[in-house]
Amino acid sequence: MEHRTLTLETLPGAPVEVPYATVTGRAGAGPRLTAIAGVHGGEYTGMAALLRLVQQLDADRLRGSLTVVPVLNQPAFWSRSAFVVPADGKNLNRCFPGDPAGSYTDVLAHELFEAFIRPADVLLDLHAGDLPEALEPFCLYEESPVEDRARELALAYGTGHVVRQSRAARTVGGSTSAAAADIGVPAITAEIGANGICDEASVAGHLQGVHNVLATLGMLPADVAVPVAPPVEHDGWAWLRTPVRGFWQASVAVGAAVRTGDVLGVVLDPWGAELHRVEAPTDGCPLFLTTSPAVVEDGLLLGLARS
Ligand SMILES: [Zn+2]
Repeated sequence: MEHRTLTLETLPGAPVEVPYATVTGRAGAGPRLTAIAGVHGGEYTGMAALLRLVQQLDADRLRGSLTVVPVLNQPAFWSRSAFVVPADGKNLNRCFPGDPAGSYTDVLAHELFEAFIRPADVLLDLHAGDLPEALEPFCLYEESPVEDRARELALAYGTGHVVRQSRAARTVGGSTSAAAADIGVPAITAEIGANGICDEASVAGHLQGVHNVLATLGMLPADVAVPVAPPVEHDGWAWLRTPVRGFWQASVAVGAAVRTGDVLGVVLDPWGAELHRVEAPTDGCPLFLTTSPAVVEDGLLLGLARS
């Protein structure tokens, strides 16, 4: 693959350099796929998987073209910042497609969206549980005119759970996959790994997932894929937040089956008394969970995929 660097000069402060790699396959025509990781700075498994992909990809077997960005959010990566960009405290994955007249992260999102997402035919965005976050592997796609294609890729990736997010019930706006869906680019967000740990099984899971997608799209021969069991499909989810600052103690694990009304955890005051009890508003499965006890008012506690 050809090594390149996108230099962003429009941001305040020193220019941000984003290393990436491109290749045009020599096996024939096909889609333009962009694979990114590191939208969040402490989610390392997808970054490691894409570094391996850059090293291993055989252009003689590839149809179409591939752009690979192992560490998209350079400011968050180098500062080891979970979820947010230090310059303005914004979450990059709430800012797409960006705003050239906005604050630091809005401008960053705009530049990255125009460079890597708008030109793509398909987008893969690799995530994991960030530093304070447990996670059960899942893929997410958005309601859109191109959602059938996105669902097909999500089912092929190899995670045990797939969540469809409807427009009306979007838990958050401004994610890569939502902004891509809005311009007609089929996209999935793939999540494997937890707590900022770059473990081999999760890295290998992401790398295999990317290969499964490339085979599904006909960009690589079918022999690079492995068969996967049909995942559990969820129609949206509930993201549970705490109304008060406190010491969070979860009482469920990711991947567990929970019923409406089950106690999922408590938020305690500085002396250990219960301030807030978190109950499941729906039957479902927690796919991500804040593991740090330090939660501030309106802080996200867990994501409960509906079942
Ligand atoms: Zn993430």
